[in-house]
Amino acid sequence: MEQFQKLGICESLLKSIKEHNFEKPSEIQEKTIPLVLEGKDIIAGASTGSGKTLAFGSAILQNTKRDFGIQALVLTPTRELAEQNSKALIRFSKHNPLRITAIYGGVSINPQMDDLDRSEVVIGTPGRILDHLSRGTIELKHLKILVLDEADRMLDMGFREDVEKIISQCPKKRQTLLFSATISEDIAKLAHRYMKDPIEISAEQYVDPTKLTQVYYDVDDKEKYSLLVNLLEKEKAKLIMVFCNTRRNVDFVANNLKLSGIDALPIHGGFSQEKRTKIMEKFNNQRVQILVCTDVAARGLDIKGVSHVYNYDIPKESKEYIHRIGRTARAGKEGKVINIVASRDYENFRNVIKDDSIKITPEKLEFIQRVSLRWLPERRGFDRRDGGERNNFRRSFNNRDNRQDNRRGDDRNNRDDRDNRRYPARRENRSEDGNRRFSSNRSRDSDDKYSRNSNSSNGSSGRMGRKSGSFSKRY
Ligand code: AMP
Repeated sequence: MEQFQKLGICESLLKSIKEHNFEKPSEIQEKTIPLVLEGKDIIAGASTGSGKTLAFGSAILQNTKRDFGIQALVLTPTRELAEQNSKALIRFSKHNPLRITAIYGGVSINPQMDDLDRSEVVIGTPGRILDHLSRGTIELKHLKILVLDEADRMLDMGFREDVEKIISQCPKKRQTLLFSATISEDIAKLAHRYMKDPIEISAEQYVDPTKLTQVYYDVDDKEKYSLLVNLLEKEKAKLIMVFCNTRRNVDFVANNLKLSGIDALPIHGGFSQEKRTKIMEKFNNQRVQILVCTDVAARGLDIKGVSHVYNYDIPKESKEYIHRIGRTARAGKEGKVINIVASRDYENFRNVIKDDSIKITPEKLEFIQRVSLRWLPERRGFDRRDGGERNNFRRSFNNRDNRQDNRRGDDRNNRDDRDNRRYPARRENRSEDGNRRFSSNRSRDSDDKYSRNSNSSNGSSGRMGRKSGSFSKRY
């Protein structure tokens, strides 16, 4: 909280931030909040996921008074973003409530007129705001702050004229804040025409939504791993990050990939810093193509060239999801996010897609070549062999860093542990070399094929030959 306080944020907003469990300001917040609170005009290179809503929200929430008319207007390119911003600002203003209204087309205009009469903060799409202006049902004479959110998208969508008309009806004495993922020449022109000595701020490059494809597959729990391997083999990729919710699942997936002949490295908060650094170096230098990781290990890392993000486990909240997908589609490159959703992920997946800014399309699953699991983590809490794990677990409670990890889901103490245990159910056997093996009910052949369709009878057995197979060669 101290870091937020240093930026000049007032007590009531600090209280809300604390309730959001934000630990420290994001880069864009750190760079912009002191300036916006001073009343400066800014042009900020930031997009969804950067924390920009709080960046401009701080100026709005700290400088707006109740019952003094509309003092802040945020223009957004889409209804969804208008809704999302208004919900976020309402949450941030919990301890100093303001009347915040989202105004967009496609819904009845009459109730909006009443809302506008009472509002202090309006977030809206240009078309409908202009409509209200032409009807005289929105009053902008008290306006102090104008925000152009996702300005590049607004221009791309053909709103330039509308935006300029709206700006021309705002008081000249105002603060203007412009947020845009990309600062094109067009944006710069718009800014310099309508802003007062704007300060340009760029934060770390974030995701370009137009370059990002997000899909999900709905699969049976026992098909998760097979689908992952199938997709890793099928999809042409540069660097790949496979996210799991727990350290245990990271080890589980990484070890199985290795045994399937796929070169992958695990990384999580259970590793020493030295080991983590070495692994990241290898990944950054592209000496290994696949990183299997938890959120904690991957957070804040700027890795260039990640073309694919797999969510082997779906994160609990949209916030984590946004952090994960922010690893790809960076710096103008294409990116793909593949969510592997099984029944154990449904609750999390529902939470994630509640966030209107997240658009994930379903992908049809035609055929999965079955891949057997060979590496199984030792069970915890069941027998003596488990003492080391349990001790580690206990130690983690005496260790602050680990506690932080646990809060974020990077622990061994949640549902994913159970899920790993679910795989071997009654089907586990041991090979001669003492390794545990797992073979499916369908076939004892570890490389059997099957189809999800009813004509699966054609699922002839066939080896994937992954040990020396095509996958490792291709990469
Ligand atoms: P935004 O870019 O404003 O849409 O924010 C993206 C997500 O990051 C939202 O779920 C925010 O609640 C979250 N967020 C914003 N600021 C922070 C922060 N300082 N720490 C952690 N999460 C944040």
